[in-house]
Amino acid sequence: MSESTAEKLVELAKRRGYFFPSAGAYGGVAGFYTFGPQGAALKQNVEDAWRERFAVREGHQEIDAPTVMPEPVFEASGHLDGFDDMLVECADCGESHRADHLIEDNTAIEEAESIAIEEVEDLIDEHQLVCPSCGADLSGEPVDDFNLMFGTNIGPGDSSPGYLRPETAQGIFVEFPLLKEYARNQLPFGVTQIGKAYRNEISPRKSVIRTREFTQAELELFVDPEENDPDLSRVEDVEVRLYPIGEQEDEDGELIETTIGEAVDDGTLASPWIAYYLGVAQEWYERVGVDADRFRFRQHLAGERAHYASDCWDAEAELDEDWIELAGFAYRGDYDLSKHAEHSDEDFTIFKQYDEPVTVERATVDPDMSYLGPEFGGQAQAVADALADLAEEDRSAFEGEDVTVDVDGEEYTVPVEKTDFSVDEVTESGEHITPHVVEPSFGVDRLLYTILDHAYAEDEVGGEERTYLSLDAEVAPTTVGVFPLMDKEGLGERARDLAAELRAAGLSVNYDDSGAIGRRYRRQDEIGTPFCVTVDYETLEDGTVTVRERDSTEQLRVPVDDLDETLTALSEGDLAFADVDGEPVEEE
Ligand code: ATP
Repeated sequence: MSESTAEKLVELAKRRGYFFPSAGAYGGVAGFYTFGPQGAALKQNVEDAWRERFAVREGHQEIDAPTVMPEPVFEASGHLDGFDDMLVECADCGESHRADHLIEDNTAIEEAESIAIEEVEDLIDEHQLVCPSCGADLSGEPVDDFNLMFGTNIGPGDSSPGYLRPETAQGIFVEFPLLKEYARNQLPFGVTQIGKAYRNEISPRKSVIRTREFTQAELELFVDPEENDPDLSRVEDVEVRLYPIGEQEDEDGELIETTIGEAVDDGTLASPWIAYYLGVAQEWYERVGVDADRFRFRQHLAGERAHYASDCWDAEAELDEDWIELAGFAYRGDYDLSKHAEHSDEDFTIFKQYDEPVTVERATVDPDMSYLGPEFGGQAQAVADALADLAEEDRSAFEGEDVTVDVDGEEYTVPVEKTDFSVDEVTESGEHITPHVVEPSFGVDRLLYTILDHAYAEDEVGGEERTYLSLDAEVAPTTVGVFPLMDKEGLGERARDLAAELRAAGLSVNYDDSGAIGRRYRRQDEIGTPFCVTVDYETLEDGTVTVRERDSTEQLRVPVDDLDETLTALSEGDLAFADVDGEPVEEE
């Protein structure tokens, strides 16, 4: 069997310093990876590109919140109760597995995450699924919910439990009362964050695709659902491939090739905000090197979607014939802010000023507590609050002699005259609203993997097999490799000076003087360096160097004087290699 791209890529990633399992000296630990020098540089470049597109260009603010947060945050967000995956343990070898993944891997069923736990147990029996580690029969094994959060104690003792954040988003939501002030209480406004998230995945796998510590880049956009719409004209012509629910449920369903504008018009994309971000994301993913032919947006099936999300789409990339989620785009309504308002004493609303003050009728009560107190004891205040709510909801309840309210399932009857019920005209200048949240949530590690996979290429140069990463210059860890033909007779010195000059011009340069030139080219090809420059004897005589382009391996002789400008223009896409003013050189 020939090696898959995944196997080749993982080997290359370790050998060339992209990524490798952490703490190998101690046997390693599943689900933790270190990005080596190339990987760290690629990650930084991708994060910078994300920041430029989703924060700076959209006019949003970026924050940097802690990765450990106290338990009440996750009680409010729902993670403590519901951030679970389905766990099945092998009774023979004790290995833990994600039950929904076992089903997806061994049956034709897709998205098994949305299936109820009892049904998952039945499917394991029905398909006689076995333990992937030891082959033992898993039929009859119980499937349990397993919470994915890593717990810790904040300070000594265990009185203050905390958790490593399972997503960066909560660090934004909990600070909304301050963030809205920084945004001068004007909707819409967006807040972004790039940072680590932690999930105690049951079975981390596929190298950096499913790890226990990873990086997310999230944007939380706060909108007034009645007033704020995106400017769809900016993305309406963007071509996308969509996989909506209808197509997923149809046996012959297929990807729909369309534009954002058409998909909004024909109702495939129901939320204008999601449509907007899918358009922006499509262009951005292509810009950083995701292959559009191996990329799609898939709509969440009803059972997959969080109950509060009205619509959700995932960006997915095809890797070795599997579709992998890269990002999620959800319309979350007012769920997050309402939950934090309920669980804390802070104000998670925004005061929305009307254009003109409005006069409205307000029904109010001012109950006689000297009557309610003796009559209802400890429930008196609750009865007063219930009367106030009822006055707002149903004035007719106060038309008779008595009014009855329900408090915790008990009925309490109060004479209307003791409620001081009245209806008055009041002038209001605005109202408090809880903003809705639109959330594009990107995973950085899976994207890095995808960029490498989609850039991975093999060909033959000068009769020899070659592997190279066809990375875009914007994200490539190194832009230019600089080599002296050999480190002799002043060539090394001239090449080191040139490397320093190019670095000073803002280019990322890798200086290499070891081994034959051909080998040095192969090394740069394998890490995806778009251009290489060779200094030779001619350079000392006539001030020209050889510049070689990675993908075509074409070489040109160009003057060294304005090399920094030429390389900058090439790397920024302002100049094509074919248009560089230079003399063609014989192939390697
Ligand atoms: P999955 O279904 O694959 O577990 P998810 O739907 O739980 O992912 P989200 O909560 O939507 O993921 O997180 C947003 C993004 O964070 C994902 O699209 C993915 O790119 C990234 N991500 C989530 N979990 C992991 C992980 N364990 N390892 C690496 N990246 C992850």
